[in-house]
Amino acid sequence: MNIVRALLLKGSESRWLRERGTKYRFVRRATSRFMPGETLDDALAASKALGVGTVLTHLGENLKSPDEALEVTRHYLNVLERVRASGLDVEVSVKLTQLGLDFSQELGEKNLLTLAERARSHGKWLWVDIESTAYTDATIEVYRRARAAFPTVGLCLQAYLYRTAADMESLIAMGAGIRLVKGAYREPPDKAFPKKSDVDENYFRLAKTLLSPETRAKSVRAIFGTHDPVLIGRIEAAARSLGLSPTDVEFQMLYGIRRQEQLRLAAQGYRFRVLISYGAAWFPWYMRRLAERPANVLFVLKNLVGR
Ligand SMILES: Cc1cc2nc3c(=O)[nH]c(=O)nc-3n(C[C@H](O)[C@H](O)[C@H](O)COP(=O)(O)OP(=O)(O)OC[C@H]3O[C@@H](n4cnc5c(N)ncnc54)[C@H](O)[C@@H]3O)c2cc1C
Repeated sequence: MNIVRALLLKGSESRWLRERGTKYRFVRRATSRFMPGETLDDALAASKALGVGTVLTHLGENLKSPDEALEVTRHYLNVLERVRASGLDVEVSVKLTQLGLDFSQELGEKNLLTLAERARSHGKWLWVDIESTAYTDATIEVYRRARAAFPTVGLCLQAYLYRTAADMESLIAMGAGIRLVKGAYREPPDKAFPKKSDVDENYFRLAKTLLSPETRAKSVRAIFGTHDPVLIGRIEAAARSLGLSPTDVEFQMLYGIRRQEQLRLAAQGYRFRVLISYGAAWFPWYMRRLAERPANVLFVLKNLVGR
């Protein structure tokens, strides 16, 4: 793994850095590129301004008690209510650790089912983020049960993990919603491809599986969550060669990253959404964004001297 990326990912796990980093105004200023603000109002206003579908996710701290998991669940119930009232095309994505997975699998599952039921009653999909490998087994297990109860729950899968091909195969069989990403955490070489070129190749292999007629016959909702121009080009070409039209293919990108490409995909008729993160606990999430493109560190430093 590139040394700067490794350092940034290590930094994302540091409480010491989190407590200090978030106090500096130049760091807060630099984050505005990747998040429209810390509140739900900011995220909804950005959804409206973007004029495309979005997915909202609230950035949270590690929870200290099961009551906090209930608070997060109430927050998301309020998000679903606000989305309905706004009439905007917004979906929600949640992390199981925010719903209480660290306290017990049952608690995370109970809160997820509460949200899945409410989302479905509003005619909306609910998405489950995938976190570090400490949580992969539990997340997939909880997801399976949620999917068995509600067809409109989807799960994110990471192409950097060796296990993902097998996980994806079994999830396709149950007609899951799958959002494929490369993966954003620090993982050891016995779990994840250490070389970026291998991750990219595995992503494309998995993408071809998601586009295949066999997968489509299972009513899988497949989403390609990537900003990688080479991969996107290869996915577009693969879809064309299978006779699929842009409306059969769905891409998602993060707020603020490769905006021109976001506009192009939407203009060409691909199904497309922007994932918007908001909330006060943005530090680890922001460090992962820097790790994806270490040149972003220069952007932070420019904010130190600029404006
Ligand atoms: C919709 C969505 C949902 C996601 N959900 C999860 C999740 O649940 N779990 C998880 O582990 N990861 C998640 N991720 C993050 C993902 O794993 C990657 O870390 C991230 O998308 C970067 O990988 P990439 O595919 O864009 O390819 P890369 O090869 O990293 O990037 C390709 C190109 O995109 C641009 N780019 C990428 N990242 C940045 C950046 N931060 N700043 C500026 N330019 C950038 C650059 O031009 C870069 O060359 C999600 C990503 C998306 C888009």
